[in-house]
Amino acid sequence: MERQQRLRIAIQKSGRLTDHSLDLLARCGLKYSRGKDQLMCYGENMPLDVLFVRDDDIPDLVQEDVCDLGLVGLNVIEEKRLAMAARGGQARFEMIQRLDFGRCRLSIAVPDEFVYDGLRSLAARRIATTYPNVLARFLRENSIEAEIVTLSGAVEIAPRLGRADLICDLVSTGSTLTANHLREVATVLQSEAALIRTPVALPDEKADWVRRLLLRIDGVQQVRESKYIMLHAPRSALGRIKQLLPGSESPTVIPLDGGGDKVAVHAVCRENVFWETLESLKAAGASALLVLPVEKMLP
Ligand code: ATP
Ligand code: ZN
Repeated sequence: MERQQRLRIAIQKSGRLTDHSLDLLARCGLKYSRGKDQLMCYGENMPLDVLFVRDDDIPDLVQEDVCDLGLVGLNVIEEKRLAMAARGGQARFEMIQRLDFGRCRLSIAVPDEFVYDGLRSLAARRIATTYPNVLARFLRENSIEAEIVTLSGAVEIAPRLGRADLICDLVSTGSTLTANHLREVATVLQSEAALIRTPVALPDEKADWVRRLLLRIDGVQQVRESKYIMLHAPRSALGRIKQLLPGSESPTVIPLDGGGDKVAVHAVCRENVFWETLESLKAAGASALLVLPVEKMLP
């Protein structure tokens, strides 16, 4: 019965998404304790528990309603969705929010010595991947007939082992490709982490927590780049200064006590504030500039 009232979210147990996922939940206010190798941890101040699993299992856990929510890469979501469609089924999890971490792309990469002359060079080649369904869709959309070699890992060494002519794998910086004498030639899918939810309707209290969590996630994503900026300026310079403030809507203008023509300007900037911006503000007449990080934000 306990499960009826508490939300359960699945996140990657150990991998590239783990720290970011835990960090996001912590920024949303979740306090939890996690022991070593524990499969699950319990929220101490919210009815939200975290289940640690392999990222590939997350879509199934959510669509089978073992978990209410899941944090997983769009690459895994898309592969799962297409795999189910290929079997005549339909994925039942629902993507509710893209998150600003885990950014990468699924790309085609060829060995250094491969002569690449556009996508047609892929015709009749063997392509190793762990994403056969996403790759198949890409090939279909580009009218290319090629052989897909499905592997469960270590895709980047497949060409050297003679198992394939080229690969289709996840890339972020490209350093793994370079180390394996491969070069990226085409992007198949852009990916980042996303929040998915169960197809099952939630009882009111849980649905309310999902809404609150989504608002908090939104707030967390907005403050990441946001800064609070304070400065003094002569009234006559306000027009120019407002133009220079990056991504701020309407700054607050406060008269200074005994400041004559001078005012204080306070603004939330939705973008990072760089030294160059401060220098331009100063040149426009601003003084006493102060930039502060924003801790929390609710629209
Ligand atoms: P698991 O044991 O959970 O199955 P894994 O080996 O599948 O782990 P990781 O390599 O930790 O997974 O990657 C998890 C996710 O991180 C990927 O599915 C992808 O969404 C994202 N990601 C971001 N950058 C990269 C990258 N350069 N290479 C691979 N994945 C990346
Ligand atoms: Zn995985």
